[in-house]
Amino acid sequence: MEYIAWFTERCREHKLKVTPQRIAVYRHLQGNRQHPSTEQIFREVQREFPTMSLDTVNRTLLTFADIGIVDIVEGYGGPRRFDPDCSPHHHFHCLRCGRITDFRNRDFDRLEVPEKIARRCVVTGKRVSLTGICPECR
Ligand SMILES: [Zn+2]
Ligand SMILES: [Zn+2]
Repeated sequence: MEYIAWFTERCREHKLKVTPQRIAVYRHLQGNRQHPSTEQIFREVQREFPTMSLDTVNRTLLTFADIGIVDIVEGYGGPRRFDPDCSPHHHFHCLRCGRITDFRNRDFDRLEVPEKIARRCVVTGKRVSLTGICPECR
């Protein structure tokens, strides 16, 4: 239940109303290591809130990304996926089953931002994304 206090606090900080729907969406995200898509979260939340639309779930997830409590996992071509773990970590993405596995690596954490990016942009996150075939699919 601890996450509710934390979640409520983050919402207050960002002047976001804490609604039962938002709590439900976050509940299905927190501790979820599958990097779920909007549809997956929607299917879970719908059991509790049958009238909540896919679009509302999607907007809720994007709002969470805006206030920095979930990361959007980009660049895999499929539907957008969400990651409740915003701490430094990296991903292995299986091209066959679509599973995204977290891993940690100090050397990857320390990767330098290329000069021409650092000069022009504000870098707020770094993540190494490896693609290939997972042990289950090999
Ligand atoms: Zn796989
Ligand atoms: Zn992750």
